Amino acid sequence: MSFKEIMDSTHAVENHREILDGKWVASQANPFVKSLREKDFSEIVAGREDYREAFLPEGEMLKNLRCADGREEISDPLREGKLAEAGQCILYSDEELDKFVAENKGKIKSVCSHVGCGAAKIKYDQMLSAGLSLPAGVTTSDELGVYFSKQLADRLGAQYGHTGPEELRSQEHDERALILAHANFDASKIKDFPAHFSSHALTLNDNVDYIKASTEILSGIALGSHGFGSRFTAENPFYVVVVAQDAAELESIKSSLAYLIDKSEGRIKITGSIAPSN
Ligand SMILES: [Zn+2]
Repeated sequence: MSFKEIMDSTHAVENHREILDGKWVASQANPFVKSLREKDFSEIVAGREDYREAFLPEGEMLKNLRCADGREEISDPLREGKLAEAGQCILYSDEELDKFVAENKGKIKSVCSHVGCGAAKIKYDQMLSAGLSLPAGVTTSDELGVYFSKQLADRLGAQYGHTGPEELRSQEHDERALILAHANFDASKIKDFPAHFSSHALTLNDNVDYIKASTEILSGIALGSHGFGSRFTAENPFYVVVVAQDAAELESIKSSLAYLIDKSEGRIKITGSIAPSN
């Protein structure tokens, strides 16, 4: 690497840090971020019309499968109503994926991959370290994400789409929370909720080990160098928001994930709510 290249890459890191600093300051003023320091998510949304409207009518679910990544938030006919899962389910075991396809064939309208997918990178690294060979023509993690998503779209009888770099909402990971919910919950309806990861694993893959692993991965992106990182503290934590069907499920998921509080030295806080009763 030439001296100029080293200087340029140092500048890139500096720019990245400055942009994240600016986004952090802006996100500190977000009404949810402010309220969540004092209150439980359930107290904030209680009685709110937008919270009620975020739940689809009985028997319906979101139809466009996309990544949990909070930068992947664009809306077009293929992508509105985001059904979210890390890497569009790329981290599922073969058995989990077979079950997912059997349960959702014909129900899902599209599967979209995206540029710079962290989950595809994790799968790519797992395959390489396990000595598995990549599919023909695949040399990068993003290509693996595209390959996987096209195959999954085929199996589901869904359309395939891809989100390119210019379509991402943000180039930096600026997520302040993860919403872990059922497939009938559309968090985009909640006014002023900050940038967040989303996962509909409570419906799509209720294996608690998977829920723990994917929550750890998504929180890890936020708490790592690609996200707000060390800006998260016990006073300003990353929020895992569990939106459960009932109180029993909420307590069960919250207690399964409670180990993350200690593991993150209090930089992850777990909160949540249940579906409003009609
Ligand atoms: Zn992704």
